[in-house]
Amino acid sequence: MIIIKTSSEIAKLRKANKLTHDALDAAEEAIRIGMTTKELDEVIRKFFAAHGVKSGFLGYGGFPASACISVNEEVIHGIPGDRVIQDGDIVSVDTGAYYEGYYGDSARTFAVGNVSQERLALMKSTKESLEIALSMVKAGVRLGDIGHAIQKYNEDRGYSVVREFVGHGVGKDMHEEPEVPNYGKPGHGVRLAAGMVIAIEPMIAMGKPDIKVLSNQWTVVTKDKSPAAHFEHSVAVTTDGCVVLSAE
Ligand code: MG
Ligand code: MG
Repeated sequence: MIIIKTSSEIAKLRKANKLTHDALDAAEEAIRIGMTTKELDEVIRKFFAAHGVKSGFLGYGGFPASACISVNEEVIHGIPGDRVIQDGDIVSVDTGAYYEGYYGDSARTFAVGNVSQERLALMKSTKESLEIALSMVKAGVRLGDIGHAIQKYNEDRGYSVVREFVGHGVGKDMHEEPEVPNYGKPGHGVRLAAGMVIAIEPMIAMGKPDIKVLSNQWTVVTKDKSPAAHFEHSVAVTTDGCVVLSAE
């Protein structure tokens, strides 16, 4: 069942996602060569603590940290640890504040140091495909149209869409209906309605789309070890567009 949120619920989701946006800003400010992913996670944990909230990720399904931090070939669900961030890495940070019973959810990929043009172009394509998706969201639009637009934009540039993981509804649960795939057929799929809140999150690989989950049961990597990028916003659907809840 797709839950239509009330305006007071959307206000809470806005607050959760604004804190999430600001935590990602703090991570962007702090990230540097030589830092471990665990140290970067600490920045986010402390940011949330300073604002009186917890990360909705901590303990979610047993996840052991405040953010998923995924480096290069890691697509999503990287567990913060001893991995040292190197010059030229691209680092995806995905997190969400848990505020008054509602989940924030947003992700960005950061370029650290001297990043290759190829990697920067991958990041740019992923981010731009999310922006295109956001520009399409409004009541009446179908998710197949949005997924198709994300897929086409990235595939036209030679990249692959990871299919095993998708965007989702978000609210009192981090993952609600509907699924929001980053691929699709125009004219197909769920029709959006005002009051739906969805997270749109293209996960795009430079090489082949095939992924595997590491033995830690979380970290998703590309099988061909090609780098991947991930950008995500949570949005509230309105009759004539959307409100990007995880924007500034
Ligand atoms: Mg996320
Ligand atoms: Mg998400």
